[in-house]
Amino acid sequence: MLQLEQVSKAFQNKSILENISFTVEEGEFVTLIGPSGSGKSTLFSLIGGLLSPDGGDIQLKQQSILNQTGFISYMPQEDTLFPWRTVVQNILLGQELYGKVNQIKAQEMIDKAGLEGFTHAYPHELSGGMKQRVSFIRSLLSPQRLLCLDEPFSALDELTRMDMQQWLLSIWKQLNSTILFVTHHIEEALLLSDKIIVLTESPATVKDILHIPFSRPRTTSLLLTEEFVMWKKHLLRMIWTS
Ligand code: ADP
Ligand code: MG
Repeated sequence: MLQLEQVSKAFQNKSILENISFTVEEGEFVTLIGPSGSGKSTLFSLIGGLLSPDGGDIQLKQQSILNQTGFISYMPQEDTLFPWRTVVQNILLGQELYGKVNQIKAQEMIDKAGLEGFTHAYPHELSGGMKQRVSFIRSLLSPQRLLCLDEPFSALDELTRMDMQQWLLSIWKQLNSTILFVTHHIEEALLLSDKIIVLTESPATVKDILHIPFSRPRTTSLLLTEEFVMWKKHLLRMIWTS
């Protein structure tokens, strides 16, 4: 579905991304993991067409999408809610742009994300984690099939994070969508992904691509299995030596 071929990017002559190549298949859950500052958000901006690479190509369904916005649903790392719009108005924004609004689905997602009672609240009335969940729902309800999520759970405490991970997995299955995900969190990457792309320190290259074999559906009890702990050690060592 998505294919990156030898994508490179420098800022002010400093190389950030070097020859990044990988694919995301239809329906796959793929996670990018790499040190802070390695260029993960930059990579998303390139895929989203907000930045232009210095070399290489990015294709969606065999068509180049370089410098073109609107092909993916992109949830940036920073909070992008409009302060003058309520929770539900913010959520429906992605759909409004495409002229198709499903208010009932939006309310359903608001409730599922534990935001019942906040439908008509404004962003300043919400905690950081709640705001994050609102922009998350907005991305999920956009009509594009490929969702790019940049550290969506980073502002959440561990227990809420675990709930949201399960919620994301169920939504991913229900919506039959394809997800490209960024996280620093090793257990999160292992629990969620079909495939993990490990980036090296700056300038980032693809260090390895891991195929995660755990059967689905995956629940948090997977975290306690020996196989999981083995994978965790493996991934940790790989990141420490990157
Ligand atoms: P990550 O998301 O992996 O933490 P980023 O993609 O945000 O990393 O940043 C990678 C590197 O590129 C950092 O060193 C950052 O300072 C630099 N960088 C990001 N955006 C710009 C920009 N617009 N101009 C110059 N440098 C940038
Ligand atoms: Mg980032």
